[in-house]
Amino acid sequence: MQNNFYEKLTQMALERSTPFCYGCYKDAPSGRCNTCFSDDMMRHVPGVGVEWGTEWIVQHILETELTPVNLEEAFEESIRQCYPETVKVGWMTLDTASVLREMDPVAWSIALGEWETQESEEGIIVSFNDGGTYYWTHEVEAL
Ligand SMILES: [Zn+2]
Repeated sequence: MQNNFYEKLTQMALERSTPFCYGCYKDAPSGRCNTCFSDDMMRHVPGVGVEWGTEWIVQHILETELTPVNLEEAFEESIRQCYPETVKVGWMTLDTASVLREMDPVAWSIALGEWETQESEEGIIVSFNDGGTYYWTHEVEAL
């Protein structure tokens, strides 16, 4: 599915950029330069830059149009949905998620890691750089 998305993003990247002849330093929309007849083209995104390949354009689309998932925040939200909002300790009423996080940071971060893996396996979040950055799948789809 991730590859599927990447293919579509690459397609978008091609649509949003123009073939560019670096030798003549000009756009060559047909894919072949009408000055030097080269077909070895860079890609030009007006206002963004000129580079080889499409990866940088995909990156640009992701960065400008999507907000990466804040894993910590999203995980905390899922905890809040699983457990009662507050917990009573003696006479104190405490926020459950905060207690979990603060009383056992190691278990918290393990659980966060497991949650991340699970969300990603279920296709709820998706990463194009091996988990460095995640995006919500439904937002990528909406692109
Ligand atoms: Zn040329």
